[in-house]
Amino acid sequence: MIDLNEALHEEPWGNYDLPLRVFRDKIVTFRKVHKCHSCQQEIKAGTRGRSRTEKSSEFDDLEAFRWCTVCTAAQAIAQNDEGDVMERRHIIAAGVTPGVSGAESAWTPAWFWAWFDRHFKEVENDRDEDAAEGEDTEFLDDTIGLYMKFTKLRDHEAAQ
Ligand SMILES: [Zn+2]
Repeated sequence: MIDLNEALHEEPWGNYDLPLRVFRDKIVTFRKVHKCHSCQQEIKAGTRGRSRTEKSSEFDDLEAFRWCTVCTAAQAIAQNDEGDVMERRHIIAAGVTPGVSGAESAWTPAWFWAWFDRHFKEVENDRDEDAAEGEDTEFLDDTIGLYMKFTKLRDHEAAQ
């Protein structure tokens, strides 16, 4: 299993300039049903994920954000894949995938996992090419190790 706590090192808003006060940012077991801020899927009670409460200078109220297990895991591995998976979890939340038309354009967990399988293979190919050229493959080896753990979350999502 991917260490979900690694997600807490990932700044969810990227290079967001507004001053932020983060009151709470931790991995929890959700007691109630929520909606995931990234993929917009329902978060079932009893599952684990990131929960963050913050206040920015832009909004007066405290804002709460929650991420499902798969999106939290995507954040946890973001340092090792330049955020590729995390970004995809977020983009697909719009329900439409840029540059893709027809049935494929609709966000479903199945669509995400089909994309992930292709992406995983590309990374493995890159690693094999680097190895054949005698280059250092340590970083990609780590990424592949994390992806092997990440792919097990497919069953978790399917069970939701
Ligand atoms: Zn999610």
